[in-house]
Amino acid sequence: NTVSATDLDRINVLGSGNSGTVYKVTHKTTSEIYALKKVKEDMDSTSRCQLLREIEILRLVDSPYIVKCHDIFQKHSGEVSILMEYMDLGTLESLRGSAITEDQLALIARQVLKGLNYLHELKIVHRDIKPANLLRNSKEEVKIADFGVSKVVVKSLNKCNSFAGTCAYMSPERVNSEADVAEEDKANVYAGDIWSFGLTMLEILVGYFPLVPQGQKPDLATLICAVCLEESPKAPEECSEEFKSFIDCCLRKKPSERWTASQLLNHPFLLRQH
Ligand code: ATP
Ligand code: MG
Repeated sequence: NTVSATDLDRINVLGSGNSGTVYKVTHKTTSEIYALKKVKEDMDSTSRCQLLREIEILRLVDSPYIVKCHDIFQKHSGEVSILMEYMDLGTLESLRGSAITEDQLALIARQVLKGLNYLHELKIVHRDIKPANLLRNSKEEVKIADFGVSKVVVKSLNKCNSFAGTCAYMSPERVNSEADVAEEDKANVYAGDIWSFGLTMLEILVGYFPLVPQGQKPDLATLICAVCLEESPKAPEECSEEFKSFIDCCLRKKPSERWTASQLLNHPFLLRQH
């Protein structure tokens, strides 16, 4: 059941971002609907590198909580298209300020965390979790998309990277100490996705970007101050204690104190019976 690029008809544009344009397409004979991300051709080397990384990750992942990639087309001209599962309700941006209930949000949070947990176990950091990169469909499924700036955390030892030959002679205690450092770094790397996830959940509930006062357009300086100097944003007073605690666990300033995806999946907010 492979699909060829020439079997597809464009229906309309679904959205566009830094890396290109995403089209809704239909298969000429099966009438199946897909999303086709067409990546810009005139790419600089950084973007090209990013694209290769995205493709590498898309080939690696297979989870119900991550937008499925069916195929990747590469033309001789250098043009690259990614054929994906179509998510008919678009991004979580459209939920912002939609008077969503905590129970509805818990349903979303659970799926995003299962996706993040899956990625983190594979040693992949997404690095761009935000409402625009989480997609919904009418089966009430929520999936993570857009691996443009994601990264596979390299498990190798720092020193081994730079002196590949020499590390063969490294003592066990040396290898262990290097590995410890790497292990700690990695934990912090994953915690970055959890911060972004926490902000995203809060934004969907309150209806505006929670780091700056409502209505204010965040410039870079304001954002840096808000992230580094001020207290972490909190869920509104009228929310349930479980939700307030959930947000608090995601938005701890110290990455080592922030809960992991698998811990958050067992947080009381997600374990409530409805
Ligand atoms: P950016 O770098 O600005 O985040 P991008 O160029 O990497 O964007 P994507 O985020 O992958 O591109 O997609 C751009 C937009 O296209 C999304 O925000 C969404 O509105 C739409 N879109 C992407 N993939 C799908 C899909 N599988 N189903 C439906 N809509 C999609
Ligand atoms: Mg995007």
